[in-house]
Amino acid sequence: MPELPEVQAVASYINDAAKGKKIKSVKTFRKDLRFKIPPALKKIKDQKLNVCDRYGKAMFMHIGKHAIVSHLGMTGQWTYRKQQKPEKHEHIIIYFTNNHELVYKDPRRFGYVDYIQKEKIDNYIIKKISGMDPTKSNYNLKDFKVLIESKKTPVKAFLLNQKYIAGVGNIYASEILYKAKVHPERLCNDLSNEEIKLIYKWTKKILEDAIKLGGTTIRDFYVHDKTKGNYKTRLKVYDRQGKKCASCTAEVLKIVQSGRATYFCDSCQI
Ligand SMILES: [Zn+2]
Repeated sequence: MPELPEVQAVASYINDAAKGKKIKSVKTFRKDLRFKIPPALKKIKDQKLNVCDRYGKAMFMHIGKHAIVSHLGMTGQWTYRKQQKPEKHEHIIIYFTNNHELVYKDPRRFGYVDYIQKEKIDNYIIKKISGMDPTKSNYNLKDFKVLIESKKTPVKAFLLNQKYIAGVGNIYASEILYKAKVHPERLCNDLSNEEIKLIYKWTKKILEDAIKLGGTTIRDFYVHDKTKGNYKTRLKVYDRQGKKCASCTAEVLKIVQSGRATYFCDSCQI
């Protein structure tokens, strides 16, 4: 599932490939993805696709006074290419005047799109996402500390909750806690000041490092077509159960927390 660095890789790809291109028309091949596709999406025709930016795991493609909001869900993918016959699982196609197209493909359809006024983006972020994005200027230790100290949930669940921290998913949550040397089952309100500082620091650092490498491709995430993210080689615990820990002689363990796999080193993370 794409997390913040992977979504950033997609946004950068859309900027490189399609920014400034004039839209001829848009076609949708079904009425809904995870939610209904807004019919107002048709209004983007005859306008230019401007910048594509991101907050947490949500992308905003700016078009005139509006923006298409795109959440990739599990398997959502945007591809810019020469116009061709649509393939299976391709649900939205934006046609440009240069005979190219931007295609949204999503086999599992957990992704969705919204169409909102640009001036309402901030409000959308507050209402629908609300968590701090660790790569943005609103991410600060003071608010992070107040928030995490007030929660009685395991710290892994805290990191995954988009209402608290926007953009962290299952891969990076395990990596952050490994670097911070905090056991994933520890309760938030039981963490020391020093541990909170380390979790705060590594959350930002790991996401930024992963952005630099274009994200992580484990199974089915591709920036587009077959382009993979390269952070996989940096992973210390995720998907490495049974292998030796990078810092000690213990083996990386795998447990299930709230239905999601968690990877950690029982001897380094206390
Ligand atoms: Zn270890």
